[in-house]
Amino acid sequence: MLYRCARDLVNQKLRRQYTQFSRVLPLPLSQTIHLKSRICGAINTMATLDETKDIWKKSDAVCFDVDSTVVIDEGIDELAAYLNKGKEVAAWTVKAMDGTISYRETLRARLEIIQPSRQSIETFVKEHPPRFTKGVQELIKALHARDCHVYLISGGLRSIIEPMAKILDIPNERIYCNRLKFYFNGKYAGFDEDQPTSREGGKPEVVRSLKKQCGYKNLVMIGDGATDLEAWPPADAFIGFGGNQVRPKVKEQSKWFVNDFAELTQALKEN
Ligand SMILES: [Mg+2]
Repeated sequence: MLYRCARDLVNQKLRRQYTQFSRVLPLPLSQTIHLKSRICGAINTMATLDETKDIWKKSDAVCFDVDSTVVIDEGIDELAAYLNKGKEVAAWTVKAMDGTISYRETLRARLEIIQPSRQSIETFVKEHPPRFTKGVQELIKALHARDCHVYLISGGLRSIIEPMAKILDIPNERIYCNRLKFYFNGKYAGFDEDQPTSREGGKPEVVRSLKKQCGYKNLVMIGDGATDLEAWPPADAFIGFGGNQVRPKVKEQSKWFVNDFAELTQALKEN
C-alpha cells in the first residue's frame, strides 16, 4: 500500500513535469523528441510487466496501430510502389522513422510524390486486399466478444484503412487516421491537416481525448513504432509488437513485447 502511494506520487510528479515541459520547450524537433523520450522512459519504468498484463486482462479499450501491426505492410509505401513511386518515397519513409523531420512534413512530401487520385486509390484497394498479420483477426474478435472497444489509430490513409476495418468489424467512428482531399475531377488536392494523426504527438492526443470522452479506465495501446510507444501515457498500458518489424527502441522500452498475437488472445482466456 505504502509502495503504491509512493509510486503514484512519483508518477504524478513526472507527468506534471512532462506536461509543463512539452508546452514551453522551444527546442528543435530532434532534441525535443530525444528529451521527451527520456522523460517518457522515466515515467514508463513505473509500470511493470505484471501490471501491464493485469491492465490487458481488464482492458475496456484497445487501440491498434495499423501498418506493420494489424497488417504486414506499410500502406503508403505499398501505394507508392503500385504507382511506380516506390524508390522516391522509401527515402522519405526512412526520414519519417528516424524522427529528424516532422511526420507532417514527410507525409506531405510522400503524398506530393505519389499524387494519389481518387481513381488510383480505388483501383489500388480493389487489387490489394489487406494482408492481415497472423492472429490479429482472432484477437480482435475475442476483444469484441468481451465488449471491449477496438480502435485503429494510424498515420496512414483512411481510404486504405476503412476497407480493412470493415472486415475486422470496426466501425468508422473508431478509426483515427489521415484523410486525403481531391479536386472535383478526382485529382490529389492534399490532406486534411486538422487530423491529429497528421502531426507530431497525434496518437497521444487521440488516446487522451478517447479517455476523456469515453471514460476508459484500462486503455491499451499496441504497436510496433516509436509513435505508438509515445501514446503511453496517456494510454494506461503499452504492448510492443514485433511480429512484422522489430524496432529496437520499442522493444527495449516495452514492458510487454510480443511477436505473436496468439499470446495476447491466450492471456485474455486466463481471466
Ligand atoms: Mg506501425
